[in-house]
Amino acid sequence: MVKIAVLKETAAGETRVSASPETVKKYIGLGATVAVEAGAGLSASISDADYAAAGALVETATAVLKNADIILSVQGPDPKALKGMSAGAWLVAGLDPFGQRARVDEYAKTGVEALAMEFMPRITRAQSMDILSSQSNLSGYKAVIEAASVYGRAFPMMMTAAGTVSAAKAFIMGVGVAGLQAIATARRLGAQVSATDVRSATKEQIESLGAKAIFVENVAGIEGEGAGGYATEMSDEYKAAQAELVSSHIAKQDIVITTALIPGRPAPRLISDAQIATMKPGSVIFDLAVAQGGNVEGSKADEIVVKHGVRIIGYTNTPAHLAADTSALFSRNLFNFLSAFWDKEAGKPVLPDDDEITAAIRLTKDGKVVNDRLLA
Ligand code: NAD
Repeated sequence: MVKIAVLKETAAGETRVSASPETVKKYIGLGATVAVEAGAGLSASISDADYAAAGALVETATAVLKNADIILSVQGPDPKALKGMSAGAWLVAGLDPFGQRARVDEYAKTGVEALAMEFMPRITRAQSMDILSSQSNLSGYKAVIEAASVYGRAFPMMMTAAGTVSAAKAFIMGVGVAGLQAIATARRLGAQVSATDVRSATKEQIESLGAKAIFVENVAGIEGEGAGGYATEMSDEYKAAQAELVSSHIAKQDIVITTALIPGRPAPRLISDAQIATMKPGSVIFDLAVAQGGNVEGSKADEIVVKHGVRIIGYTNTPAHLAADTSALFSRNLFNFLSAFWDKEAGKPVLPDDDEITAAIRLTKDGKVVNDRLLA
């Protein structure tokens, strides 16, 4: 019988967990045994008793790992902690392969087959397995809520007997999964919302959410789906045009949420200190890219920085700030992946070597690093 191990996260500030009682039940339904490290779900509001009621064994890390065939985790565990599992056991997690490149070599040495869930290709079949989407969606929501909570004014327009409160103006920069949810959340709170991106396909999405699209007109952005829906580094000409556009728009904004990322590269710089200086005191910027180097000059991870009277916020790990929901979705992403490859006869999931998903997410196998993106 295949054994699935669920580890308690050890990274600082990580509150999520990689399996929920719901997915534990489903794994057992597929014929697996599930062992959960004691306390693994506590910071996501899941007790050991909840896991036990779902049918899991709740044990120490050593017992959980013993003879495990599949190890689930949110972030990559310390390779030194991986002992006692079956030969060739799978490690299924968000492994930050570019940021933690040396650790991937260590995983190879331990003999595990490391599967990086953030490398899931953006194809229809894999949508329900996409941890980046499920976590970014809730991050976009949380960024707006946090910005609203430190903003010294209200979001909606209010007409009261004592006078009128004007609506906040919110500007969302980067309209991927997080940005779309940020637009929707800011709109629901009553803000006047505008948004921008380098991918022209987002223009229609912005307008369909009832926000105003602010786009560079004189230099072409990214047309079509580009590199699997991801942005690339823009030309100097585009960057200059974008800076000019942002300068004229940002001075009128109260709330700015930045979400721009380029896979495998530092986040693009979208807001300079000089541009912040043009904003009204009391305005708030949430930099969702702060952990990737930041979209905003001067933003610091997990700190509120005040520059020119503007508060700049950004969390290293925004999904960890709503762990119950992000864990539930993350857990389902992992279950959707493993169950899609479940081989009934073998009684365990099997990854065909020639599958597009296998090629994309497999980092190590048989003691070697095998992923094209890491070897390139
Ligand atoms: P992301 O997190 O990589 O980046 C966030 C956004 O920032 C993107 O929209 C990107 O274009 C934008 N950006 C990058 N550089 C910028 C710059 N200099 N200025 C302004 N904006 C900039 O993106 P994401 O949220 O992962 O989503 C990207 C796309 O992929 C979306 O269209 C999304 O719908 C699509 N997607 C498809 C699938 C699928 O088909 N399975 C799954 C998830 C996402």
